[in-house]
Amino acid sequence: MRIGHGYDAHRFDEERPLYLGGVPISETGGLLGHSDADVALHALMDAMLGALALGDIGKFFPPTDATWKDVRSTELLRIVCKKIAEAGYTLGNADITVVAQKPRLSPYIDRMRRAIADVAGTEISNISVKATTTERMGFTGREEGIAAEAVCLLYKNK
Ligand code: MG
Repeated sequence: MRIGHGYDAHRFDEERPLYLGGVPISETGGLLGHSDADVALHALMDAMLGALALGDIGKFFPPTDATWKDVRSTELLRIVCKKIAEAGYTLGNADITVVAQKPRLSPYIDRMRRAIADVAGTEISNISVKATTTERMGFTGREEGIAAEAVCLLYKNK
């Protein structure tokens, strides 16, 4: 078994659409970034790559590469899942925490879990997504952006 951790944060950009955990959310503007800036998926991918000490998503999808401009992070996750499979590992489970003062994410949690499980080819019971605010403290509390953390466990295939 290998464990991995990921962290990411992006600032709000009201001009862009918001995607979190692979799900479009229309209540607020989106996040600034080279791809769709889906912080939840970015944290998850960094956790998966970190578990195998492969580096981070900046290494595989550099912001200097136009290929990844505005790309949906579900597509990036698909590529990371392929790398994990090629290395001989399977995702056991993942636990993602999204830190956001806005929007309220509880109505979207299960849709995010489903979207991630579908891309990763695993059961929804293996994917946890949680959301918290920071009680208006710090950059997330001031609604400057959204952050996310993720941990995951990978199993070596028999
Ligand atoms: Mg990012």
